[in-house]
Amino acid sequence: MAEVICSFCGRNKKDVDLMISGIHAHICDKCVTQASQILQEEKKNKVESGVLPNFKLIKPREIKKFLDEYVIGQDEAKRVMAVAVYNHYKRLMQRKVDNDITIEKSNIIMVGETGTGKTYLARTLAKILQVPFCIADATVLTEAGYVGEDVESILTRLLQAADYNTEAAERGIVYIDEIDKIARKSDNPSITRDVSGEGVQQALLKLLEGTSVNVPPQGGRKHPDQKMISVNTENILFICGGAFEGISRLIGKRLNTRPLGFATNPDSLSPTDVDKDNLLQFVSAQDLKSFGLIPELIGRLPVLSYLNPLDHNALRKILTEPKNALVKQYKKLFEMESIELEIKEGALDFIVEKAVDFKLGARGLRSICEAIVNDAMFELPSDKTTDKLIITRAYAEEKFNKSHYSKLKVA
Ligand code: ADP
Repeated sequence: MAEVICSFCGRNKKDVDLMISGIHAHICDKCVTQASQILQEEKKNKVESGVLPNFKLIKPREIKKFLDEYVIGQDEAKRVMAVAVYNHYKRLMQRKVDNDITIEKSNIIMVGETGTGKTYLARTLAKILQVPFCIADATVLTEAGYVGEDVESILTRLLQAADYNTEAAERGIVYIDEIDKIARKSDNPSITRDVSGEGVQQALLKLLEGTSVNVPPQGGRKHPDQKMISVNTENILFICGGAFEGISRLIGKRLNTRPLGFATNPDSLSPTDVDKDNLLQFVSAQDLKSFGLIPELIGRLPVLSYLNPLDHNALRKILTEPKNALVKQYKKLFEMESIELEIKEGALDFIVEKAVDFKLGARGLRSICEAIVNDAMFELPSDKTTDKLIITRAYAEEKFNKSHYSKLKVA
């Protein structure tokens, strides 16, 4: 009988513990173990190269084009965001190459009145991102140990968005809304304990700086016996947004009190050049500091952008133009009942006028529309005789005036 030898290493059957036979070959236990190790090694390498992102680089222009389909106006903010996200990708890719130059991340802070699209912009951005993304609200955060959520809860959300894949979360993007609400409450930094203001800013600072944080995977308070996941924030891009109500006054004051300069330098802004209605475009780090953000935090948010207040024109476009514009959504809802919806120009103007009155930006549009279409939405599904609804200005006014919205005081 022919000798049985391992087809891989050539060892004789009598020299190994076990020989496995195939159709035309044999493999010994030692080679099986070795092959298994090779497989594991190879798998690990693949996982690691997955960490070094292998995604399609979406160029800033493409990012902006995508945002344009949903968000009206706000070109400046879109461009800034597009570039920041693009650079974020490039930073992540850079780790593959051994390079002396470290590209620092450029966290962003956006200033804009309520309802101008800050959150919406971030949400829309999330649709094209190939990295985990989450939105957090700064108002619920308090300094560790006080009632409210610890800043680590932000990372819990990111972990959830990444399906608890820590490596993926560590290259994600976080949008923190209402950052202005954690402004220092008084100019005197240490007069009282400021647990939901400066204390939170200090805690956030650590996250923004890039550090390893122990995160409770299910959120909530840290329990001593809860298993923590360590998340490194070094490569997480943070985008913050806030209305910073009253900051225009600070900007105006700064622009007007700038010593000399105006008259002597023809290139500089003169008080008459300044668009008094939209001072936000001149917002600077200094104004954020006057507003109550601590300089260290501002330093960690080097890219500052603004969103324009939405005027009548912009609001009108928002109603009808974006890919998922409100009017398109209502048409779809009625279409599902086999009812054709037509909203006349006059009615659209009325909706916009009311939204302008309420000073809620685009946020007001939805509630005003709801007030107008609610009756029809209630009645028509049971009414088999109607197949068309025309909303004229008169219809819109009548429905709106009888709704509770009309009783709200205009700001
Ligand atoms: P905020 O600036 O207060 O975060 P949001 O982003 O929450 O405002 O805006 C509220 C809603 O208004 C959004 O969900 C969106 O439907 C609409 N909206 C706001 N701004 C725009 C815009 N520029 N283009 C299109 N829709 C907008």
